[in-house]
Amino acid sequence: MILKTETIKTPEREILLDITEDINDAIKSTNIIEGVCHVFIPHTTAGIIINENADPDVKKDIITHLKKLIPIDNNFSHMEGNSDAHIKSTLTGQSITVLIHKGNLVLGTWQGIMFAEYDGPRSRKIHIQIQGE
Ligand code: ZN
Repeated sequence: MILKTETIKTPEREILLDITEDINDAIKSTNIIEGVCHVFIPHTTAGIIINENADPDVKKDIITHLKKLIPIDNNFSHMEGNSDAHIKSTLTGQSITVLIHKGNLVLGTWQGIMFAEYDGPRSRKIHIQIQGE
């Protein structure tokens, strides 16, 4: 079992960043060919999702619609002023699990792994645990 931690810099307040190749590179840097990859992000105003990465408009639509569902200024109580980001993070979650086969992530044709930033720009951590043989 191997744990790797990567750091990324997010360029905007709200954006989906495709990190599929970063995760695949982390797997390839191990000798694990068959197994499971867990990705966990230790943040309360970010998320991680699996969704379409073929058409970039899908990422844009997800962020645009989340902004409409949960506006930044909605008379929230939290003093920091980023309750919208906490709620979006809660909705999309902090971890995913993907199978590894022949040394690669097992994803659908249109699927990619995306880091979801809801309160950037910031430096963020991604923990990647790779289990298998
Ligand atoms: Zn906060």
